[in-house]
Amino acid sequence: MSTLRGGEWLLQPSTADSVFTPERLTDEHRLISRTAQEFVQNEILPALDKLEAKDWGLARRLVQRGGDLGLLGVDVPEAYGGVGLDKVASLVVSEKMAGSASFGATFGAQANLTAIPLFLFGTEAQKQKYLPKLLSGELVGAYGLSETGSGSDALGARTRAARQPDGSFVLNGEKMWITNGGFADLFVVFAKVDGDQFTAFLVERGFGVKSGKEEHKMGLHGSSTTALIFQDVRVPAENVLGEIGKGHKVAFNVLNFARFKLGAMCGGGAQYAIAESAKYAASRRQFGQPIASFGAIKHKLGEMVIRTYAVESLLYRTAGLVDARVDATPHDATDASPALAAFEEYAVEASIAKVAGSEALNYVLDENIQIHGGNGYVRDYPAERHFRDARVNRIFEGTNEINRLLIPGMLIRRAVKGELPLIPAAKALQDELLGPSPMPTSDDAVLGDEFRAVEAFKKSALMIFGIAMQTYGTKLTDEQEVLMHLADIAIDVFSAESAVLRARAASDRGDGKAALHIDAARTFVNDAAMRIETSARQALAAMVDGDNLRTMLAALRRVLKITPVNTVAMRRRLADETVSRSGYPFA
Ligand SMILES: Cc1cc2nc3c(=O)[nH]c(=O)nc-3n(C[C@H](O)[C@H](O)[C@H](O)COP(=O)(O)OP(=O)(O)OC[C@H]3O[C@@H](n4cnc5c(N)ncnc54)[C@H](O)[C@@H]3O)c2cc1C
Repeated sequence: MSTLRGGEWLLQPSTADSVFTPERLTDEHRLISRTAQEFVQNEILPALDKLEAKDWGLARRLVQRGGDLGLLGVDVPEAYGGVGLDKVASLVVSEKMAGSASFGATFGAQANLTAIPLFLFGTEAQKQKYLPKLLSGELVGAYGLSETGSGSDALGARTRAARQPDGSFVLNGEKMWITNGGFADLFVVFAKVDGDQFTAFLVERGFGVKSGKEEHKMGLHGSSTTALIFQDVRVPAENVLGEIGKGHKVAFNVLNFARFKLGAMCGGGAQYAIAESAKYAASRRQFGQPIASFGAIKHKLGEMVIRTYAVESLLYRTAGLVDARVDATPHDATDASPALAAFEEYAVEASIAKVAGSEALNYVLDENIQIHGGNGYVRDYPAERHFRDARVNRIFEGTNEINRLLIPGMLIRRAVKGELPLIPAAKALQDELLGPSPMPTSDDAVLGDEFRAVEAFKKSALMIFGIAMQTYGTKLTDEQEVLMHLADIAIDVFSAESAVLRARAASDRGDGKAALHIDAARTFVNDAAMRIETSARQALAAMVDGDNLRTMLAALRRVLKITPVNTVAMRRRLADETVSRSGYPFA
């Protein structure tokens, strides 16, 4: 597997055999995937009405069941009660837990937001004390970062931790919108020591934490969301998590993990919804025929599959990168530092997974309602619940705006530090664009045009990154609209390349579904070309004008000369396959 560094895909090509894809899952991965799927199908979904009625006793029992099945501790070594599998395993579990978004949130707060920070930053004594109980589900965990006045601006928290003469701390303040807040036993809480030292603490409910009332939410009714109130809550010195004043390290690193897993849940949720749409479209008849036979519906089904395919491809590729990085670092099984370093390395990819996953899911669920017509708008069918449940994915774990700012922000920071040779690559591209036009090349290799298109996407990205850095210098952070365009281009580059590499791999090994893989990748690339061109043109027009702008636009046209393909035929094939399999054709 590839050991490409974070963001390097923007500058160099990859080969199909170097990326991890869902088709490479091992028997162990498939087993844990099936365990998670059956747990959701047989135990969570039948309990959903009770969970939506806020039966937190039942939620607690289901968390314990998840623990019994080994699903809570996929990422954590056996020494602490986990199962110690790789990130691909953790990805497949997240995908399957998406079968119930409400319980998925409960599960995520426990497995990702409480167990992971403890594993990454806890002392040996803290891990021994809390991790086995969290991973068995005996303790329920929650993560208290947000406050009324500080959501995106998490470091602006006002909760205070006053040092006491005996070394302990007294916490005062209030956290907002905390998942599992109504019944959790152990909280990872962020507070400021001495007024400005942002610090993470492990706080037991028994120390005096109070929960506010349940929020009345748009969706996720089967997940508890409350405020947490800290009034003179005394926390012993040994419950500082990580170092005093280094709470941002805990918060941001946990988010790298959590964003990736949220992307995985979104990809999994989209697959579940595609199955619902496929079955409904096959059975619902209008004008004497199933609605699945109408081109307008085929377009929707095809596009739902294509967007899901791209997200799935980039998720597995990222998990493969993280696992390869961890494996390449000699370490003891209980050592969390390689995983920490790997997620820091692939933080850009984690943000892409979160944004691309949540937006693809939103699209899929919106079309799922549309395919269900009036039945999509009423509660007799699950489509409306999925739609409400999913909206928050674009808000939590860093809003999609914050993640979009982070994507180019992190890439540029690495470029400036010399860790990613983006600046010399942008310069070399400028020289190339000023030189004579190269002769168009062509080969008949499978997806040859799409590989060339991806190369063109990368050049377009480099061109816009280069001009933005030249135009604004350090003031680029103030130009959020341009940064959003840069993020959109980067997301499309990573998604398109991941899809094309996966489809090429399917073709290379003679996969029975290779033709479908190729349809999905080609259609995605075709449409990404248009999106990238729109973003690039808008960004250019914001940065330069007059003759300069005309020259740049001409250069962009030269780079992005991509001939459209017949996406109608490809979407129809994908839609027909989806209907005949009653679900996502790549599952
Ligand atoms: C159901 C649910 C569960 C949650 N669970 C948890 C949990 O378990 N633990 C926890 O700590 N928190 C949790 N949250 C809180 C969540 O993380 C925050 O809501 C989220 O971070 C956004 O913060 P905010 O709501 O204050 O929005 P704001 O930060 O006020 O943002 C409002 C809008 O402004 C934009 N914006 C903000 N800053 C910028 C900027 N610098 N540049 C450009 N745009 C900007 C945002 O993108 C957004 O569109 C949960 C929230 C919900 C709804």
